[in-house]
Amino acid sequence: MESDKPWTVSPKGEGQRPIRSKPINRQQMLLRPVEVEKLVEEDHPVRAIWELVGRMNLEPFYAEIASVEGVAGRPVWEPQLLISLWLYAYKDGVSSAREIGRLCEYHPAYQWLTGLGVVNYHTLADFRVCHQEALDQLFIEVLGVLSYEGLITLQRVMHDGTKVKACASDKSFHRKATLQDHLCLAREQVQQMGDPESEELSQRVAKARQRALREKQQRLEEALNELEQIKASRSKVSEKEKARASSTDPEARIMLQAKGAYGPSYNVEISTDAQAKIIVGVGVTQSPTDAAELEPAVDRVEANLGERPKQVVVDAGLTNQATMEAMAEKQVDLIGALPERRGVAPDRLKQRGVSPDFYPQAFEYDGSADCYRCPAGKGLLYETQERQGASLRRRYRAKASDCRVCAFQARCCPGTKRGRSLIRSEQTPEMAAFQAKMETPEAQAIYKQRAGVAEFPNAWIKDKIGLRQFRLRGLMKVTLEALWACLTYNISQWIRLCWKPRRLAQA
Ligand code: SF4
Repeated sequence: MESDKPWTVSPKGEGQRPIRSKPINRQQMLLRPVEVEKLVEEDHPVRAIWELVGRMNLEPFYAEIASVEGVAGRPVWEPQLLISLWLYAYKDGVSSAREIGRLCEYHPAYQWLTGLGVVNYHTLADFRVCHQEALDQLFIEVLGVLSYEGLITLQRVMHDGTKVKACASDKSFHRKATLQDHLCLAREQVQQMGDPESEELSQRVAKARQRALREKQQRLEEALNELEQIKASRSKVSEKEKARASSTDPEARIMLQAKGAYGPSYNVEISTDAQAKIIVGVGVTQSPTDAAELEPAVDRVEANLGERPKQVVVDAGLTNQATMEAMAEKQVDLIGALPERRGVAPDRLKQRGVSPDFYPQAFEYDGSADCYRCPAGKGLLYETQERQGASLRRRYRAKASDCRVCAFQARCCPGTKRGRSLIRSEQTPEMAAFQAKMETPEAQAIYKQRAGVAEFPNAWIKDKIGLRQFRLRGLMKVTLEALWACLTYNISQWIRLCWKPRRLAQA
């Protein structure tokens, strides 16, 4: 059949004969035989994923399937297929159920998996979030395979947290009054909803609108609950008043991102075995810092693999007294950076206009009374303490009434309405031992390996799998999304380090 356009003959140049070219016909319909098995090469990663998933115990995924032989109902897609589809899609950088549905229609790897079938995106979307325990179990099973292959030793595990954007915008964060206004409006709208069967719109559209309104009301109620939790976590009254929660994803928190900007996020905590950079534990928290995350991370690794890591390596965000004590109790060797001390340096005192005669060395410590004595003979009493890295910082402060009338005030604490304060840094025995260990060349050499191991899976998950922003909302669902991504990462490493080399050896 020939096309309408004259593509068969085209001019080549003045004075030359026109060339004869092949026709392009986009109006034709063709029926072609497809040999499904030949759609992908023998060493295509989709075969590795199918093979590995097929070796796993998938019974937990079957538990809720109602469609069984001898009972009325539609047949369902096998869990092995749905798991393989999601894993291959994540590996391919695809995290949308609709996109996978589209890819099933024309992409050879997806066609090979489904045997040219097309999986409905609702089925895929539901499957991703409806099997939390089964997915945890699958993650552990895959770790068992990787351990058997010698890719996990637990001799040294690097732990780090990475912020992943939540599926919510900055503008969705509101204070209590605004959330309450929105909630009142949503409740009114829900009450005014008519019977979908009497609506002028189609029943499907009316029901969808009603569902959306109810979900909006529910999210606003959750946001108000989360707001109370955020307030409870803050100590200062002024900070409590400023607290905001998202009306889109109430469980998201504003966190500092890697590039220095603040945004709605979750904190993904990843533990990586140093042997072959395999992820041995993953968790998601709402905490903007990693300070309290090492102990739960070690527990997760132990739950996944049946034993604790011999050594954990962390950055300065996780080295604090609580972490040191917890690791000592668990008999896990802790290697980590010490944060720089935030002691008030002379240049900062100078900036504040403090005269050198009133630098800390001019204040005398009285151990029996646990206070300092200033050059004017007044006492600076213990006020508060905080942990910073391997140090315990105790703050002492003079009475404001003493400093206000003191002749030295302009040289000692100019411009402050509160009394002069001093910081005293102390070290517990665990902190001192940790500091001494970290000053050895051996510990420093181990610590230097941290970034290369701990940040490799973080970068892979964000750059190759595309998990820079969650698609799902809520802590439970984003945890599942992170778990799918980490499972995909681990299987990718198995393909790279074990499956492909074996295929090459067999070829
Ligand atoms: S300003 Fe306050 S702390 Fe400083 S010397 Fe006077 S009384 Fe002491």
